[in-house]
Amino acid sequence: MANKSITLTDDLYRYMTSVSLREPDLLRQLRAETSIDPMAGMQIAPEQGQFMALLVRLMGAAKALEVGVFTGYSALCVALALPAHGKLTACDISEAWTSIAKRYWERAGVAHKIDLRLAPAIDTLDALLAAGHAGSYDFAFIDADKGNYDGYYERTLRLLRSGGLIIIDNVLWDGRVADDRVTDADTRAIRALNEKIHQDPRVTISLIPVADGLTLALKG
Ligand code: CA
Repeated sequence: MANKSITLTDDLYRYMTSVSLREPDLLRQLRAETSIDPMAGMQIAPEQGQFMALLVRLMGAAKALEVGVFTGYSALCVALALPAHGKLTACDISEAWTSIAKRYWERAGVAHKIDLRLAPAIDTLDALLAAGHAGSYDFAFIDADKGNYDGYYERTLRLLRSGGLIIIDNVLWDGRVADDRVTDADTRAIRALNEKIHQDPRVTISLIPVADGLTLALKG
């Protein structure tokens, strides 16, 4: 018992997922296919996908944004949770990874809900702003190159409606954010954004130690 978040040992993690994870077969297959990729660590944890899907349902989100698709696991979780008329704008630069994603979106019957934009995400977000989408998104997930995290956060915040939610991934960065000896550019970028959001009066926040750490930022 403690007044801090529990440490998840391997045994406890197995127990937690054994009594709570409800991963559809198709998502499990996508995870298995992705696991052979050298970059498989970029895939979100299944319990994280389930949590994000719950938040999408809880909010009744219909217009969603994703920055960083990889092989499409999180986008599939979100798209499955969106209503029939829901739309997810998904940003990535990799044709190879998103071709895997598209295959699974088709099989799940949600490809029509996902608008994949293959371009640098900063450009796509700027294009959405220029096209008049500011203040219109309900939900956003940021999980891409860490050097651009602040740029993604600022643009996404403008695209969100009041009461919309941003989830930012990897905010605990495998513990490196808390290790002063680690000073690489990605770690510094995550630390800087964490510190900025902590003091950002535009959002109500909670940092959740699920998977690699998620910051939930609700636009005021
Ligand atoms: Ca991630």
